[in-house]
Amino acid sequence: MSSAIADLSLAELQQRFRNGDISPLEAMEDLLEEIPRRDALTRGYNSVDAEAALAAAEAADPGLPLGGLPIAIKDNINVVGQPCTCSSNILTGTYTSPYDATVIKRLCAAGAIPVGRTNLDEFAMGSSTENSANHTTKNPWDLDRIPGGSSGGSAAVVAGRSALAALGSDTGGSIRQPAALCGCVGVKPTYGRVSRYGLVAFASSLDQIGPLTRTTTDAALLLNAICGLDPADSTSLPEAVPDFTTDLGRDIKGLRIGLPREYFVDGMHSGVRSAVDKAIAQLQSLGAKIVDVSLPHSDYAVATYYIIATAEASSNLARFDGIRYGHRSPDPANLLDCYRKSREEGFGDEVKRRIILGTYVLSSGYYDAYYLKAQKVRTLIRRDFEEAFRHCDVIASATSPTPAFRVGEKTDDPLQMYLADIFTIANNLAGICGISIPCGFAEAGESRLPVGLQLQGKALDETTLLRVAHAYEQSTDWHRQLPPTVSGAHRPPAASC
Ligand code: GLN
Repeated sequence: MSSAIADLSLAELQQRFRNGDISPLEAMEDLLEEIPRRDALTRGYNSVDAEAALAAAEAADPGLPLGGLPIAIKDNINVVGQPCTCSSNILTGTYTSPYDATVIKRLCAAGAIPVGRTNLDEFAMGSSTENSANHTTKNPWDLDRIPGGSSGGSAAVVAGRSALAALGSDTGGSIRQPAALCGCVGVKPTYGRVSRYGLVAFASSLDQIGPLTRTTTDAALLLNAICGLDPADSTSLPEAVPDFTTDLGRDIKGLRIGLPREYFVDGMHSGVRSAVDKAIAQLQSLGAKIVDVSLPHSDYAVATYYIIATAEASSNLARFDGIRYGHRSPDPANLLDCYRKSREEGFGDEVKRRIILGTYVLSSGYYDAYYLKAQKVRTLIRRDFEEAFRHCDVIASATSPTPAFRVGEKTDDPLQMYLADIFTIANNLAGICGISIPCGFAEAGESRLPVGLQLQGKALDETTLLRVAHAYEQSTDWHRQLPPTVSGAHRPPAASC
């Protein structure tokens, strides 16, 4: 495949603008021409508004921090005048965003241009994009496999070189897990770092927006633009936002990297385990000190998450009632029937499962036994991290216990699907920050699939996270490797998928 603008990192394209090698409009034209070709097999995009992107590119100012840089946006973040489908039938074709999310306002103020809406599991509930009402996005490294989820579209377009960078959202791993499975960088910021205003809410005490990029430098550039206090989100934090690029390039000598013993257990894919072990040895050779830590309540994280997240989802999704937003059933007998039918017709199975589960754990009689108990366990999980961070600066592990699985492999077994996030979920419950970076490949069947290294940091310490991630990245070339869909070596997907 010929080289194009989308092969560049954000920092590289920015340099070309500043050298006067190419204008933002020319870059945008090139990208828009490439998207249909490059995204044809993976289908990471739900839609692309070329006209709006070209108009913005024509007016772009390359002097601004992100001037003229195109960013793909997960289809659950509002961009004024564009559809925001959440990959759900309840919003598809019936909802156009009347306003910009705060992250979009900030990106645009920094000069960036939102381009395209990326696929996700319906309302961000899932780990594979198979719960999308639109289509299943495929992994650019193997078209028979899922890209991860729920930000699978964002990861696939970045890894498949049909976007330079993207925004995703992470409630229990939805940025980090697809980043790991597609071989890109994904940052889940500290809860409260990034405004959630204009992100369609799934579980409000867990949701965070963050970048998916090819390099840690690009992730830092996007974080610089999107972080910060927002009066429109009462949970956004007033803390000053540092320049996240300043510590990139600093060595990591003497930094303590904690290995939680609960995250290095039997049952992990052997290829994932060996890539992560090698990455840790590499960090050690760069001067980091490896220490053992413990997160003793890890076993409860998935169960706790599926009580709290579903409880919040059942409340958040009550707004989709056929009256105020989206799909309305055409022929209801009365108002109650309108609510019932609109929701029955509009929501997919996984969303219904979660609404039912969440309503159940909140119902009187069960509230104390489930929801209240889960909140208490959440506190214990948060304390585990606080204790661990007394002994280390950053915690390292695999991002996902396995590489990308096959399309259809886990769709009949929700529990297996939920376990895909076993290493990422506790981070959201604790409200700390995390990143996944490419750390090698695992053989699975005939495929060579990316593996992600997860680093977790103290609340508000994205700077150290990025410093360690960048030091590792600079000492490897995993992030430069091209998936077969880009190098031209892909096998056609199996006919059944
Ligand atoms: N896979 C998890 C879930 O289905 C996490 C999703 C997310 O982070 N949005 O809930």
